[in-house]
Amino acid sequence: MRIRVLGCSGGIGGGLRTTALLVDEDVLIDAGTGVGDLPLQALARIDHIFVSHSHLDHVTSIPFLVDTVGGMRSAPVTVYGIKETLDTLRTHLFNWKLWPDFTQIPDAVRPFLAYREIRVGETVDLDGRRITAIPANHTVPAVGYALDSGRSSLIYSGDTWVNDGLWRVVNATANLKYLIIETAFSDKEHDVAMASKHLCPRVLALELAKMRASPEVFITHLKPGEVALTMKEVGEAAGRWRPRMLENNQEFSL
Ligand SMILES: [Zn+2]
Ligand SMILES: [Zn+2]
Repeated sequence: MRIRVLGCSGGIGGGLRTTALLVDEDVLIDAGTGVGDLPLQALARIDHIFVSHSHLDHVTSIPFLVDTVGGMRSAPVTVYGIKETLDTLRTHLFNWKLWPDFTQIPDAVRPFLAYREIRVGETVDLDGRRITAIPANHTVPAVGYALDSGRSSLIYSGDTWVNDGLWRVVNATANLKYLIIETAFSDKEHDVAMASKHLCPRVLALELAKMRASPEVFITHLKPGEVALTMKEVGEAAGRWRPRMLENNQEFSL
């Protein structure tokens, strides 16, 4: 599996893009603003979108993607998520008010968009590429994802605060190579982080202390304007895990 970062920021501006990971040519893990950087033909090849949760920074490109490429494709784009996430997309986004319901376009028999509900702990196997929804702890029901090629694994935390369920998965993943974990705020915004159920560096360090594996650790979802400060604090609080900042267009191979 090849994984390319299309977006890894907590916001936009300049070259910043919100969260999206492209797996090979046909799978997205979250669909933030970075998806729009792909050329049209690459957009049309995306068959599967795994959504971590319903927040806009993770789903905002789905409506535009489906509208843009639907007529170029012979099969629907399938959006995977837990029930609460899909319910929110149906009720609040693809509801004919904010955007059309593309499960009915051009008709319900051959729609541009399909939903597939998954449960926490469930694995979807796409030709040997195993994608598993893993626990997250956020202000709305949410998951992260574990990606396993059979040779090695990458775990993406999704948006999360303190999350023992994540560490149970991390510690049970024998072939874990990479961990991508969010740290949305600096320590001076500890209270905002807690209220919005995101990590800050000193809580990240407490969380990483639960890890018995030794993957390469990458930090994602940093708030624009606080990037340098947050990474400095991450280095001070969690330096023993040698965390690095996730970069846009960075690639991983599993
Ligand atoms: Zn969120
Ligand atoms: Zn987010």
